[in-house]
Amino acid sequence: MNRAEQRVVIVGGGFAGVETALRLRRTLPAHWKVVLYSRENHLCFSPLLPEVVGASLNPLHVVWSLREMLPGVICRTAPVTALDFDARTVEFEDGGGTLTREGYDHLVLALGLPVRLEIIEGMGEFGWPIKTLGDASALRNHLIAQLERAEVTSDSETREGLLSVAVVGGGFTGVEVAGAILDLFRDSCAYYSSIEAADIQVHLLEGSPRILGPLPEDLSAFARQRMEARGMQIREGTGVEAVTADGIRLSGGEMVRAGTVISAVGNGTYPLLVNSGLELERGRLVVSGDMRVEGREGVWALGDCAAVPNAMDGSISPTLAQYATRQAEQLAENICASIRGGVPQPFSYSPQGMFCLIGHRNAVGQVYGRRLSGFTAWLLWHVIYWAKMPTLARKVQIAVDWLWGLCFPRDIVELSMEQTRDIEAKHGKPL
Ligand SMILES: Cc1cc2nc3c(=O)[nH]c(=O)nc-3n(C[C@H](O)[C@H](O)[C@H](O)COP(=O)(O)OP(=O)(O)OC[C@H]3O[C@@H](n4cnc5c(N)ncnc54)[C@H](O)[C@@H]3O)c2cc1C
Repeated sequence: MNRAEQRVVIVGGGFAGVETALRLRRTLPAHWKVVLYSRENHLCFSPLLPEVVGASLNPLHVVWSLREMLPGVICRTAPVTALDFDARTVEFEDGGGTLTREGYDHLVLALGLPVRLEIIEGMGEFGWPIKTLGDASALRNHLIAQLERAEVTSDSETREGLLSVAVVGGGFTGVEVAGAILDLFRDSCAYYSSIEAADIQVHLLEGSPRILGPLPEDLSAFARQRMEARGMQIREGTGVEAVTADGIRLSGGEMVRAGTVISAVGNGTYPLLVNSGLELERGRLVVSGDMRVEGREGVWALGDCAAVPNAMDGSISPTLAQYATRQAEQLAENICASIRGGVPQPFSYSPQGMFCLIGHRNAVGQVYGRRLSGFTAWLLWHVIYWAKMPTLARKVQIAVDWLWGLCFPRDIVELSMEQTRDIEAKHGKPL
């Protein structure tokens, strides 16, 4: 490889990959190229996806163009299909369908984790995942379509099914999605003549003894009490055995009727990593404290896909964006240090806090050990995430969306993707 063209190749355009690329581009000398491969041409700000599901945020406002965010970085929208550590290359499919290889001096693996629906029988067939912008947008549209169908059906049992939703998993994502859906359905009732608040059933099912396990018990209890007061049906310590076309079967055999079942549990591992021969621990890559993949020179891993030890307390980092971003800061320093003959440092991070929206302009959380709940927590959640957003343009758009939501009803337009040829196939060609 030409010395003038040494390169760091990053696989993954999420929080970890993007922050690493941004910092390396700022720090490395110009003869080092930084190349980022991602399946999408955008960074998705996943903490905002529940608000997309609840139709309170415009889907386009929660994604950022990688090319705009990463000037000077070579962005390739192409999935990496194989890794060859001996030849020090990655393989990707070029625009013409040919498999092509690109060499690296340093390789950063930041693939995140895929959703694994199959951990619950029937979830793959009948369940809705919530991971990508596509998942959130499709679910938003589906929920609005369920309202439309419920309005026109004359059969009360069908209506009951259309207006019932079950969210499996009472962690942060499950609670936020369930809260957003209850708000969407409740607020929309006013526009539908045959739907009443009492017709709406949103179930939240958690297998462990309480929802929001990582938060202190009193905050979980607050969240539960507030959501139940709004009509949410919460079951804790309840296992889900199977998902069917009509709802879910609990481990005791009881059936919960639900026309829409959402999975907020279960991560898998990408085949690319499974086939790489690298050591995995509970589906995540094993790395040393400085995020090096032992035994593979110049290979590093971080974010959700890696089990990164936290030198602060010796624990393995959780799969959270705030950890992925901090790891990226340290990793960029470590790569620069190893290029310049310095000593890479271990990742060490003390989390500042965590928050969870629970619906109806309420949230729970703690920041620097201080517990907050209700509207104050909701407000702080929005201020914190707004401050973290990458570009001024999106900050303005999101601020307008949020202010809009305080003054006007949410947007319940079903974004139809039906094209003329679909309409013709369904209803016949015009004469
Ligand atoms: C609905 C939801 C809500 C969340 N809320 C919060 C929250 O409030 N706070 C918080 O801290 N965290 C939250 N998280 C978790 C947070 O999103 C993740 O921890 C974070 O995204 C991890 O970043 P990452 O870069 O490791 O992976 P990801 O963000 O998943 O990015 C990985 C990227 O790699 C790409 N990729 C995968 N395979 C390939 C391949 N072969 N070739 C090229 N590209 C590939 C993927 O397409 C993706 O773009 C939430 C997650 C979800 C799903």
